[in-house]
Order: sequence, then structure tokens, then C-alpha cells
Amino acid sequence: MSRLRGRGVSPGIAVGRAVVAVRDARQVRYRLASSGVDRERQRLRAARERTRVELEEISSRISRTAGPAQAAIFAAQILMLDDPLLAKRADELVRTERINADWALERAVGEVEAVFAREGDTWLRERAGDLADVVGRLQRNLRPGPDKLSDPVHELEPPLILVADEVPPSVAAQIDWTRVHGLVSDIGSPTHHSVILVRSLGVPAVVGLGAGTQVISPGQTVAIDGTTGEVVVEPNEEELERWRKRAEIAAAGLRALDELRSEVARTADGVRIHLEANLEIADEVGRVLDAGAEGIGLYRSEFLLDVAHPAASSEDAQIATYRGLLEAMAPRPVTVRTFDAGEERLAWVPRGGGHRERFGVRGIRAALQADDRFETQIRALLRSADAGHLRILLPFVTTVEELRQARDLIDDVARELGQESKVPIGAMIEVPAAALTVDQLAAHADFLSVGTNDLIQYTLAVDRTDERLAGHYQPAAAAVLRLLRTVAAAGRRARCELAVCGEMAADPLLVTLLIGLGFRRFSMTPAAIPVLKRSLATLETRVARDVARRALQARSVDEVHEILTPVADAMHRAAVRPNDEN
Ligand code: PEP
Ligand code: MG
Repeated sequence: MSRLRGRGVSPGIAVGRAVVAVRDARQVRYRLASSGVDRERQRLRAARERTRVELEEISSRISRTAGPAQAAIFAAQILMLDDPLLAKRADELVRTERINADWALERAVGEVEAVFAREGDTWLRERAGDLADVVGRLQRNLRPGPDKLSDPVHELEPPLILVADEVPPSVAAQIDWTRVHGLVSDIGSPTHHSVILVRSLGVPAVVGLGAGTQVISPGQTVAIDGTTGEVVVEPNEEELERWRKRAEIAAAGLRALDELRSEVARTADGVRIHLEANLEIADEVGRVLDAGAEGIGLYRSEFLLDVAHPAASSEDAQIATYRGLLEAMAPRPVTVRTFDAGEERLAWVPRGGGHRERFGVRGIRAALQADDRFETQIRALLRSADAGHLRILLPFVTTVEELRQARDLIDDVARELGQESKVPIGAMIEVPAAALTVDQLAAHADFLSVGTNDLIQYTLAVDRTDERLAGHYQPAAAAVLRLLRTVAAAGRRARCELAVCGEMAADPLLVTLLIGLGFRRFSMTPAAIPVLKRSLATLETRVARDVARRALQARSVDEVHEILTPVADAMHRAAVRPNDEN
């Protein structure tokens, strides 16, 4: 049994056998005899027509199953097919340079990519994935033959889990998702078109596994949690049983969504628990409302820097996004986290060498040092504030000094705008230094939000994106729990509002520990909210305190799981026999 961790991007739990798909990068290149040129041009034309027919078929099917918005991805791909820079340019290269069609396409796309790179444009970069998808399909259609992926998907006994290095949107659109119950991929993001597609189909997905396709072998049993990003390969019987229960708890929460939506969360002994939602894509705010969230506890605004349109991060475009969110959620709060430049988000981080050199260059630190986009963002936020209940959250705060500097800058911008800034300013607690000085930070912050994803990685010295260390990434490690206890106690003493917004908050058993440590506010992926409401209704805070106290003393994470077993069983019983509650 081995554990991997990626990013949960489409919620739900799936267990199945692995179908492993790695794209074949081999390219065939040769020069043509002059007599072969016409035949080659004809081959290219035929591939283009075959590709068009396929894409039209995909587009109309997706329009029926996932809706017109997702189908638009493929309408755009059909337009790319007709772009003079692509197929026409390839045809010209076949004719003038007498190279084979595969090679000519590779050259044509290389020229387009060079333009993309020169323009340095995020919108174009995002489109590069679709361009590669179209070209890959064209190249496959130059050599029509059996489809490497659809064969195993149809031959193997479902349920299956697709394990891929990358899934281009048109491949995702052709997969039979009634047989494939989950997706894991080595790379990808919540905004990747394939991910948007599977999310709209309700298929659980975990991306960013790194080397999943190397670690997982075809036919192995794989369990995935599209909410927390956990992936277990070849789980043993005991573990499988745990996953089965987890799936039932999750499914029961979703079934009860309608009756739970308007209810607030309470523990069995009536303690009020606040549940808000995390959001990456503003257009998906409907999911937040649908899940019955009390607000947005974390809007990861840096996704505006990566997606859709180059103008998406201009001041005016940001205002449109923020106002849209605030109006949709009003009167509920919307907590916008200012751009957090992860080490992987190069566009934001100043250039410079390898990973170690970029270590720690992110969040408020990078914003205060190197980028005027922070100021633009603050202006856009303050100019949107009258549209609803806005809160500003600063990421990766390490010292009081940084917090003070950021607040001064926000006050300056407010003055320039002729406003007296009344927007609450919060700090993320996600660096151990911040966790250990919560008392000081609380004096300068209107609220605090614990980012357990980063807090775990920096506490346990585990790069959260490195699959080789996934087994060491343990939210229930005693060191993490002890640090969280310190944070909860300091927050309470300082009377500062304190929430947890990392993935830990999406797991009912880990939330049990957090409640036991004293936390009462959580923000999580929307799909986890109904599951949590249901699960918490079975939990006595006295029990939560008791398991937390014992977990703080545990010698291993396995021991913590054992301590949590009776809680898990009670949650499971309530999920499968809801009428027995109370
Ligand atoms: C965290 O670190 O827990 C967090 C919520 O922020 P992110 O996952 O975006 O780093
Ligand atoms: Mg973080």
C-alpha cells in the first residue's frame, strides 16, 4: 500500500482499478520525394477533416451532457483547426520544404508557440493546452488506428480510475465516464479545461500528483478523494473498509443536501460551527451557494493571474470579478485572499534559478518586495467593497512587521481613493513562525485564518507537491496538532476571530480533532460542507476534546486513526441509518 497526495479538484470518493495512460511523444519525421508531396497534402487534409468531424461530435455530445459552456471549449478548438497559422501553414511546409505532415504540424505549432512565448501572455498560455490538444488529435488522425485509451476502458471491468500524465480536454470528452469513476493526473490545475469538464460531470479528480503514472501500475486498485487530494494505491482490507465508509458518509451528505442547505452546522450538543467555502474560480460561486456555505472563507485570487484572459487581472477586470462575487454572496462575507504567489506560479515570482532559490518567495512577502500588482489589487478590492461584505486576507504572513506594512499600504490606497478603509484585514497563519506568534499578530489583524496545507509542509519539512514525500505529509502528526493547539489557545486568549481554511477542514475526522483543539470556524471546498454538517451533528464536543487530548500524546499517526475509529463509526452509522440519529 502506498499513499500519494495531489490536489483535489473535483470532489467525491472513488475506488477502482487503474488504467494508466501516458501520451506517446514519439514523432515521425522524414523528407518526401517530390512525387510524394501531393499524397502527403491529401493525408493532412483527410486528418483535418477527420479531426473536425470528431470535434463536432464531441462538442454536440458535451453540449448535451455537460452544457453549452463546456462545449464551447471544443467550438474554439474547431476554430483553431481552421487557423491559417496551423493546418494551412503545415500544408505550405509540406509543399515548400517537402517534409512529412507530422513534422510540418510540429513545425507550425512550434512557430505559434514561439509567438505565445514572446507575447508572454497568460491568456495565450492557457490556450496553448487546447492548441496542443488539437495538434495531438491531428497527428493521431494522420495515422488512424486503435485508440490506446478507449480500448482498455472498454475491455476492463469497471469501476476504473484513469491515471494519466495529462488529459487533454478532447480526450476527457471522449472517455466513457460511466466506466471510469475517477481521474488522477500528474499535472493539471482546477482551471484546466479537462478538470472543469469532469467536475461538471460529477467525476472525482485529483491532479498534480507528479509521478503518479510512474508509481501506479495498470490494474492496481486505487482509492481517490477528490476533496482532500488523497490517493491510496493498493489499499489493504482495513484501509479499503475505511474508504468505503468514507464514501458512504460523503454520499449521505450529498443526498441530504437540500434539507441541509439552509441549516447551520451544530454539534450533537448544540455548539455552533461556522462553515464557509473555499473558491478558486469566481464563475463557480453558484456551487458555494448551492452547498449552503455561510460565506466565502477563502477566495484564492491568484487564479485570476493564470486564467482566461490577459486583461483578467487588470484593475477594472478585478473589480468586475470582486463585485460579482460580493453581490452573489451578499449579505454573507467574501474573504478575498490577495495574490499568493506559490513557488510554482512563476509569472509572479521574480526570476531566478531552481526551486531552492525561490523557496519562501511568495505571498505577502513577494507582494511587498517586488510587485505593483498588490497595490492594483488593493485598489480594485477597495473600489468593490460597497458591493457586499468584503474581507481581505493576507497570505504567507511571517512577521508582525509584514502585516503592519501591508496594512499601511492598504490605508494609503484607501486615502488616495478618498475612503476611510473599514474593510477587515486578516492574516493567514500558515508559516510556523506565524503560528508561534499568533498573540502578536492578533493585535494587528481583524481576523486570522489557519492555512494547514502550508503549515503542515513547513512544520514537517515536506514539500506538499513532492509525491516522494507524500507518505510524510501527515495532518494528524502530533507536531502539527501541538502547533494547532498553540494557535487555537492564543487566538482564544487574544479574542481574535480564528478559522481554519486548509484541506484539513474538509475531512470530518480531522475536523473532529480541530474542534477538540478549540476551533469553531472552517472554510473548505463547497462539496464538503453538507458532509460536514451531517457528520458534526453526531459529534459531542466532549468526545472531540477527549480524542484531541489523546491524539496530542499519540506516538504515531496510526495511533491517531485508532483513537478516531469510534468517531468514524458513529458518523458512518448515522450516514447509513439516518433515522437512528439521536
Ligand atoms: C493553506 O496553505 O492551507 C491554504 C489554504 O492556502 P493554499 O492551499 O492556497 O496554499
Ligand atoms: Mg497556503
